[in-house]
Amino acid sequence: MNKGTALLRQQNEKRTLALLRKQPHISRQEIAKAMGVSKNTISLIIEKFLKEGVVKEVGAEDPGGVGRPRIQLSLVTEAYKAIGILIQNAFCQYVVTDYGSNILEEGQLPLNGNDAEEAIKTLIKLCESLLSRHPEVLGIGLAVPALVDPVEGVVHFSSHLNWREVPLKARLDEALPVKSLVLNIVKASAIAPSSVVPPEALSNSFYLRIDEGVGGAHIVDSRIYSGASWSAGEIGHLPVRADGPLCSCGQRGCLETLVSLPAIRGRILHEDPRAGLDGSMLDEWDPEAELDAAMDKIIRESGEYVGTAVSQIITLLNPKYVVIDSPFEKLETFRNAVKASVESRALKYPLHHTSLLFVANAYSSSIGAAFAVILDFEKE
Ligand SMILES: [Zn+2]
Repeated sequence: MNKGTALLRQQNEKRTLALLRKQPHISRQEIAKAMGVSKNTISLIIEKFLKEGVVKEVGAEDPGGVGRPRIQLSLVTEAYKAIGILIQNAFCQYVVTDYGSNILEEGQLPLNGNDAEEAIKTLIKLCESLLSRHPEVLGIGLAVPALVDPVEGVVHFSSHLNWREVPLKARLDEALPVKSLVLNIVKASAIAPSSVVPPEALSNSFYLRIDEGVGGAHIVDSRIYSGASWSAGEIGHLPVRADGPLCSCGQRGCLETLVSLPAIRGRILHEDPRAGLDGSMLDEWDPEAELDAAMDKIIRESGEYVGTAVSQIITLLNPKYVVIDSPFEKLETFRNAVKASVESRALKYPLHHTSLLFVANAYSSSIGAAFAVILDFEKE
């Protein structure tokens, strides 16, 4: 087989794997049709996969009594695995998933996140131990609260971890038999498979997360768009109020200064000092309970700010889905305020073709990081 033919065959193998991942039961004929290649090509690939134990035959589907029944194929999801690790200050959270993103092993480990050298040593040890139990692992995805260059796998800056210019990927690749992928934490959660959001959202969507900070990610064709210097998607720093509070970035009225959890806790405290210093009522939110007038106003205004930012995203990027991941997901006041604000500001044509989805903690950064390894494997 010459080099070109080998490459083409490898590409077809990866595309077949991707199809099998998305469709649990599919026949050789259907794969050939979906990929626009000959049935013979697919038969050869499937024969190889059957031998390797990557695919199994799962019985036949009778196409209405006409012609031969088609044998259905299914992926042996445990044939390939991925490791996903979320790095935090004091701990790291890890998962090993199969090719269908089912969790096979998970856990948490203390980590001295503020010391990059020590953290890397702990991560290498953890991965060595996971790899010894799961030799099928394709790679390691690392979700880091930082500005990250995903191509070189360098953590440029993290105020959270106090890291600067840490060549995380290079250090792990040197020590481990499989390659690593480094992602920003919000971007990792943006691609994590979720039960609430349809898988087709990965074709074109914008993900917005409200948490201790506000972040986002633009996903096109199952890839996170990083931008020229890796800061694409930073919706938290879109200014939404000219006279708003000063932001850590130096601007005034960034979305993050108005709707992040610390910002909202601050407002609750300002409105009602009895709410307690920690604004703990945010953590024990009862979505069924009626909001008092002051809370209703805070949540409504937060929704308006989010809608202002989202309307600009819709007009500029024309995504098919906008996924808003926040603890306010179930609050009617919040959802209505976001929708009204978006409707009054976004261009009508793209707006009518965009679905707004509200979710709460539907995503896990570690699972997303593992899934990034699988997507990368399919596109290599
Ligand atoms: Zn800012």
